[in-house]
Parts: sequence; C-alpha cells; structure tokens
Amino acid sequence: MASNNKLVNVLINKCPRCGVGDFFVTKSAYTRRFDEMNKQCAHCDENFVPEPGFYQGALYMSYAFYVAFMVIYFLIFVNYFEPYLNYFLVSIIPVLVLLTPWFYRLARRSWLAIFIKPKEVRG
Ligand SMILES: [Zn+2]
Repeated sequence: MASNNKLVNVLINKCPRCGVGDFFVTKSAYTRRFDEMNKQCAHCDENFVPEPGFYQGALYMSYAFYVAFMVIYFLIFVNYFEPYLNYFLVSIIPVLVLLTPWFYRLARRSWLAIFIKPKEVRG
C-alpha cells in the first residue's frame, strides 16, 4: 500500500518519496543484514545515497531519538514506578542495546526524508 505521508513511510521502511519501494533490504531490524540499504528505490528510482558520507547526519537523528526515548522512559519510571526508580539505570542499558538496530534504521530513514519531497498526489 502506497502512502504519501512521509512520517508513515519513515516508520514502515518505505521510500520517503513514493512510499512503495523498500528503504532497507530486510523488513526487520533484528536480522543479521539489518544495516543493508537499497542503493535506490525499486519503484521511483529515488537515490537513497545522495552523496558519500550523507548518513553522518543520521548520527544526530539517532542521538535525538535516544535522548527522547530516555526522557520518556525516565518520566514513566518517575510517574508509575517510583518505588523502583533504582532499576531505571539498570534497565535502560539493555533496553537501549536492544533498540539500537531499530534506532539506526529509523535515523537513516528520517534523515533522508528531511531532504526529499514526497511525490505530488495526482488525480
Ligand atoms: Zn520511491
């Protein structure tokens, strides 16, 4: 199903322009090939690697995602699990390790989506 919503395309591993072609080769972030990207969109030929080193900027996206996640995680602990606040630091490390491949992929997709205009809707 094609979507013209960039945010949806970023979340479901689709091309930020047409919403049809896959961005990463595998659907899941938890496979050995989780970091393999398609060079271009199979549907609209959008170039997924505009220039060498393009995805260095994705590091900052991923940093922002980690910080946002940790703040939310912390607020949940403070509000709902206050007697167990000691476990916050112990539990956040494995959680962040588990989320790393997912954040890695999300950061790359969102970084590219910032620079690509979605396809015009016709009809
Ligand atoms: Zn495309």
